[in-house]
Amino acid sequence: MPINYRDALQNLAAGGNLRRLVSPPAPTMINLSSNDYLGLSSDGDLVAEFLSEFGANAGAMSASSSRLLTGNHSEYEHLERLLDGLFSGKRTLVYSNGFHANTGILPAVVSKGDTVLADKLVHASIIDGLRLTATNFERFRHNDVGHLRQLLERASDRSGRCFIVTESLFSMDGDIAPLREIVELKRKFGAMLYVDEAHAFGVFGERGEGLCVQLGLDCDVDFIVGTFGKALCSVGAFVACAEELREFLVNNSRTMIYSTGLPPINVAWTAFLVRRLREMNDRRERVLNLAARFSQSIGAKPESQIVPFVVGENEPTIALANSLQQSGFHVMPIRTPTVPVGTARLRFSFRADIDDEQVERLISVFGERRNQNK
Ligand code: PMP
Repeated sequence: MPINYRDALQNLAAGGNLRRLVSPPAPTMINLSSNDYLGLSSDGDLVAEFLSEFGANAGAMSASSSRLLTGNHSEYEHLERLLDGLFSGKRTLVYSNGFHANTGILPAVVSKGDTVLADKLVHASIIDGLRLTATNFERFRHNDVGHLRQLLERASDRSGRCFIVTESLFSMDGDIAPLREIVELKRKFGAMLYVDEAHAFGVFGERGEGLCVQLGLDCDVDFIVGTFGKALCSVGAFVACAEELREFLVNNSRTMIYSTGLPPINVAWTAFLVRRLREMNDRRERVLNLAARFSQSIGAKPESQIVPFVVGENEPTIALANSLQQSGFHVMPIRTPTVPVGTARLRFSFRADIDDEQVERLISVFGERRNQNK
């Protein structure tokens, strides 16, 4: 039966699950819901420096075609060369965004008869990418290497390739995948490994390369995906992989082939920031310290700049978010289908430009509100 749109909306509203598009928070609010982890969006000097270097450039505002036609402007080549330098033995390929990367790469590289094992909590864009592949995929319990091993053992007599797909830093849980153990399994079973570093790129690693490089595992990961719309305060994404795979993607990855490239000005802005990433260790340290300070205050184990606080049901989560918003902290309720049913939560996403006093205030206000909400 075709879906009744009105009923569907009413059901969402009845379950406290109806979303609306709202304006970004006013500058007077402390924004704890963005992915601007390094706080670059508030750095007017950086933007001014970029614009004076880039100048007025008439062709910069649109690629005007796919990269495979006439959209492959010199800024792309420059950015990819810079990114190549961050990963040993890999070449990089830039996509228009992370959603395009995941929905363009996975269906291109996975063939019929292959086995795909994905972490239970991977992002919607990975799920959609996997839905577009010619094979069914299986899920292993979140960060559970024992379960992954079982599924690998079960798949070991199948013909075809095996792919393990995970994120390095999970966006709604703020926890980090056991990448070392996953790499061991990948080696043992001869599988290919795909790691989405959307939330780790820019924040982890000596030069912001992400967790695979920080842990010295980049050589073992076949596909490292990073995005520019989060810590990098830009737009776009990349994959780092073997040169041959890169060439294969250029020829087979439909989201890249059949979609207009990014405007050269955005690509140049990303390159400008990638060049500066190595100088941003103070920002990386700061955001992780702020998040750790807050995590400890709520009795959680600090792992990253993302700190979830699971409430459970939608309504109390919304009420708690509203009450924090009224006190000047822009925190959004995260509900299903973004997270599993019954695990609605607040997601505190820290930024390097938040000051100590603001975090102390957050700790005290949240401590109070959280108790009132019980
Ligand atoms: N992967 C992950 C893990 C993400 O969290 C997101 C965005 N929320 C994406 C990919 C998509 O990236 P983009 O916003 O650049 O489309």
